[in-house]
Amino acid sequence: MCGIVAYIGNRQAYPILIKGLKRLEYRGYDSSGVALLNDKNLNIYKKKGKVDELVAFAEQFDTTSTIGIGHTRWATHGEPNDKNAHPHFSGDSNLTIVHNGIIENYDILKTALEQQGHVFKSDTDTEVLIHLIEEIQRSENLSIEEAVRVALTKVVGAYAIVVLDEKEPDKIVAARKSSPLVVGIGENEFFLASDATPIIEYTKKVTYLNDEEVAVVHRDGTFQIKNIQNENLEPSFQYLDMQIELLEKGGYDYFMLKEIFQQPQTISDCMRGRLNANEGWTTLGSVENNIEKFLNADRIIFVACGTSWHAGLVAEYLFEELARIPVEVEYASEFRYRNPVLTEKDIVIAISQSGETADTLAAIELAKERGAFVYGVVNVVGSSIARATDSGSYIHAGPEIGVASTKAFTGQLTLLTMMALNLAYRKGTISQDYYRQMVVEFSTIPTKIEETLKYNDKIEFIAEQIKDSTNALYLGRGYNFPVALEGALKLKEISYIHAEGYPAAEMKHGPIALIDEMMPVIVIATNKSAYEKIVSNIQEVKARKGFVIAIVTEGDKHIQKMADFVIEIPEVEEIFSPLVSSIPLQLLSYHIAVMRECNVDQPRNLAKSVTVE
Ligand code: GLU
Repeated sequence: MCGIVAYIGNRQAYPILIKGLKRLEYRGYDSSGVALLNDKNLNIYKKKGKVDELVAFAEQFDTTSTIGIGHTRWATHGEPNDKNAHPHFSGDSNLTIVHNGIIENYDILKTALEQQGHVFKSDTDTEVLIHLIEEIQRSENLSIEEAVRVALTKVVGAYAIVVLDEKEPDKIVAARKSSPLVVGIGENEFFLASDATPIIEYTKKVTYLNDEEVAVVHRDGTFQIKNIQNENLEPSFQYLDMQIELLEKGGYDYFMLKEIFQQPQTISDCMRGRLNANEGWTTLGSVENNIEKFLNADRIIFVACGTSWHAGLVAEYLFEELARIPVEVEYASEFRYRNPVLTEKDIVIAISQSGETADTLAAIELAKERGAFVYGVVNVVGSSIARATDSGSYIHAGPEIGVASTKAFTGQLTLLTMMALNLAYRKGTISQDYYRQMVVEFSTIPTKIEETLKYNDKIEFIAEQIKDSTNALYLGRGYNFPVALEGALKLKEISYIHAEGYPAAEMKHGPIALIDEMMPVIVIATNKSAYEKIVSNIQEVKARKGFVIAIVTEGDKHIQKMADFVIEIPEVEEIFSPLVSSIPLQLLSYHIAVMRECNVDQPRNLAKSVTVE
């Protein structure tokens, strides 16, 4: 995963690199490091841990330089320590590299290089690549950009790399395959990064590298792009549209809390121009442009990972119930390896916050090869998935920096709900009256989330009661079953409490054995359909002394009598309930994690943008 940032120009590089690395820290925080080139001296400073550790360590050194590269790591090969931190030197220390991705054939390359006398200092695949570049540069007497290009023709795997050569202090070489890299173009200066966030305050003009492209940026403001087959390419430019305030915490203790509280706004942003409550319609341009495909689809297959997969599960309920289209929901990582049956009448919808999820990208390629129409539901504008799909929509949630997804999840639900309603109406599987009524009701969801957020203090109090638990069970039915899965995922990823989500009725087929007075059971009990059934499930838990926290519809006195705690949410149509019922579960996980002194925004072992398979 990792974050990469690089600078060449007339400003001091170090502050730009550090600020950029902090913005990219969500991508990995096992270690960080910079390489700075000053007066033909190439120095590397790197440290295990967060960027702050690097800053403290680098204080003792002279960091003056107008060209440098930086990295924040999410380890794949070799444990997180100083030695394996990037940047890595070549054998003669003339070259240095930062890398995001995995060199899959590193072992074969390493053995061959060792036979040629190369000695490695780290356990990483990355160090093998810089030695390979060095070997090619030396043996074939090539410029650094040519050596990089030739080396990449010998590499299997995924990479975004940036390379510096001590002997060529006026250029930086960068390349990508399957891991993102964006080049920001200023006045006689360039900024390179894994995403646009380190670039935005310096320039809006960017070009996104495509797979197997190599870029060389020069201090005089010129740059060239080639593919690894050695053909010159014309760059295409884009102009960033992002506000810097969105990248700051804005008074909240953590990005996650800010992002939870942003949801009334981000959902409204997602609806803007796509839903009109006065006239009673909802539409998406990209669906409209492909309407025949959608109306004639035999099947929709959602492919996603993690929280996005849960959004896909909610969509399964929506699309089947409303639009009567058969739906399957697949983990991208399983779908791509199991030879799925696909036809041209299938629509594959890929869901990803970052738009860089490696398994989802691979699933998209497979679906395209098999002739399916591929649609993307993505947050990050210009990301790889947004570009790889046939069509798609952005959820417009703005940068999501907390590693645990919150506003992107509800953004995905918002977009998929609009799609399901629109298609259902177009297919005639719902009446015009019902359609209009649902659109009006849907438009009130941001206000209902606002009301739900007012229960924050009560949720914090409930969090205090269960913060020392070692396990938790989340139960829901129908539309709220995926919400139970998502609630459990949120708790385990940020508080490290083991949690499981289950369809409430399935509890008696196994998990009920776990229930005792030590086991908090969080039940989403807002459904109108199957209300009696969920009440029975609560009774079953209480009969075994489980500690029940129920999410209920405001005014529900019945469940209040049997649960240990209730969290009330405003009454909503069942098809929209995941949008509201997931909010208290986000807050509950957040408060528990804070009370357990966990790093909420950067949970251990995780990273936000999963660009490795
Ligand atoms: N494979 C490299 C390492 O372990 C980069 C990891 C990544 O991009 O996640 O250092």
